[in-house]
Amino acid sequence: MKKRYAMYYNTDGKPMTMLKWAKAFEKNRWQIRTVLWRGTIVVSTVWLGIDHSFGMGKPLIFESMVFCKLCDGLEADMERYSSKRSAQRHHSILVKKWRNPFQLMWHIINTHILHRQVY
Ligand SMILES: [Zn+2]
Repeated sequence: MKKRYAMYYNTDGKPMTMLKWAKAFEKNRWQIRTVLWRGTIVVSTVWLGIDHSFGMGKPLIFESMVFCKLCDGLEADMERYSSKRSAQRHHSILVKKWRNPFQLMWHIINTHILHRQVY
């Protein structure tokens, strides 16, 4: 497999230095945020800029996370992408998925009732 040395990428998927990435990340954090079910579910898609592919395929520099208030801020869903376009598209898909009352019900039953963690 061909080794890729770039680790940091801008929102257009172009490699950048760590310093430039750090500045860009501080200044302009690209994000789409959708609040569902009166804040119980938040779908957040962000540009991370750091490749999370571990050298497998395209650099994964965007990430969607679905946060559930009842899960204490833990993510209920997570996906990663290599382009802004893909991130936008999958954000809409995740919003559609979590807007569905059956998805919320399934999540509550599966995560909060059946697999409840007791510490
Ligand atoms: Zn939850």
